[in-house]
Amino acid sequence: MTDQILLTGNLKEAARKAAQWLANRKPIRDLRDWGTAFSLWPPHFTTSCCGAEFGAFAAARFDAERFGMLPFSSSRQSNILVIEGTMTRKMARAARIVYEQMPEPKYVMAIGACSLEGGIFWNSYNTVLPSEVGIPVDIYVPGCPIRPEAIARGLLMLQKKIRHQSTIKM
Ligand code: SF4
Repeated sequence: MTDQILLTGNLKEAARKAAQWLANRKPIRDLRDWGTAFSLWPPHFTTSCCGAEFGAFAAARFDAERFGMLPFSSSRQSNILVIEGTMTRKMARAARIVYEQMPEPKYVMAIGACSLEGGIFWNSYNTVLPSEVGIPVDIYVPGCPIRPEAIARGLLMLQKKIRHQSTIKM
């Protein structure tokens, strides 16, 4: 019964339901997830010093584009937010706005010890964790400072997760 949908009433709503049903079925679902996993575009947004390591990951030696990750200038065309280490309350507000502007499906990668449990700023009055400001993290990558290889490893794990995700809502 869960695989059946009832196309009644409003034609536009019925078409939306049919498109959602189709997009969540194999092989279209596999194709969609494969495309999403290798088209991860983070907005240019840096919260702290781990941003320098992310810059190294994006540069020539590690070349983030080989993994399908292309830093992008607009949050409205981005689908992965990278929280780079410590996040102050002031930057957390900006991060939340950027996250809300990103279209679905969207993902969050938090890198560095500071984004996991506060790191060296664990008892600071003005730093917060992503979970405290309503930013759901899909993958945490530890380290202080984090190495570009670790970011690459985290990205590969996130891609694996995306390719095994279940369904989407349209
Ligand atoms: S984890 Fe280390 S390198 Fe990263 S933001 Fe915190 S202090 Fe800086």
